[in-house]
Amino acid sequence: HKVEAELKGTLEAAARSERLAAAGRLAAGVAHEIRTPLTSLKLFLQSVQEEVAVSPEQREDYQIAMRQVGRIETTINHFLDFARPQQPVFGSLDIVALIDDALEVVQPRANQQDVQVHKRIAQPLPPVEGDSRQLGEALVNLMVNALEAMPDGGELTISVESEAAKGDSAQSVWLRIDVSDTGTGIRDEDLQRLFEPFFTTKATGSGLGLTILRGTIERHGGSVNVDSRVGAGTTFSLRLPASSSNRTTASE
Ligand code: ADP
Ligand code: MG
Repeated sequence: HKVEAELKGTLEAAARSERLAAAGRLAAGVAHEIRTPLTSLKLFLQSVQEEVAVSPEQREDYQIAMRQVGRIETTINHFLDFARPQQPVFGSLDIVALIDDALEVVQPRANQQDVQVHKRIAQPLPPVEGDSRQLGEALVNLMVNALEAMPDGGELTISVESEAAKGDSAQSVWLRIDVSDTGTGIRDEDLQRLFEPFFTTKATGSGLGLTILRGTIERHGGSVNVDSRVGAGTTFSLRLPASSSNRTTASE
């Protein structure tokens, strides 16, 4: 009877994962269907602003509407990135340029929040191959999380260095990127849930940023680590394999 029970368990698990996969496909389909009209709605609202003279109160209402549209768009895009992860397109990376581009995106917000930004590059860096769009988004995600953890100011530090690690057999070289903040920190019980889809402690968070980030880094053969202390701050460390060392192809 034990075998029978095990078989039943396996069949139930299979049926459950089939149902989950079907629900996922359905949700991705719906998200995609929402995105198309949303894009035209946004363009339409933008052109209205340029063409119609409005009162200050109307302008304020308009800006609220635009922000809400932006929020829907971000949620939908995050969800689609999560539901339909893209295979990375590998090319040689200019990691310093990638970091500068990401910093440029978040700098206005850092200024607003009185956050000082520091960049530390320890040359020479090893050559790394990867998808610059996906990795750029990953960096922006980490920086935005860091800023969100520092509403009353602080320091955001990005450091990059080469790291040698001894594996089972050979020595391997990694590019390590640390994104550190002096923000709220993360409670122990939350630390284990960070990478779960939809885990968020924010009123308007999607909880998908870190899930997507980890998928991206793993498809690059790399890893993500977190070190955090409540009240002191958080460091996310990304490791990407140097292209000169043998890249063990990720399992997906
Ligand atoms: P979201 O930002 O939408 O909440 P994420 O997947 O990016 O989703 O992050 C999940 C959760 O991890 C956040 O809600 C927050 O609780 C926590 N977190 C992530 N980065 C940091 C950070 N730098 N400092 C403190 N908490 C963080
Ligand atoms: Mg986030």
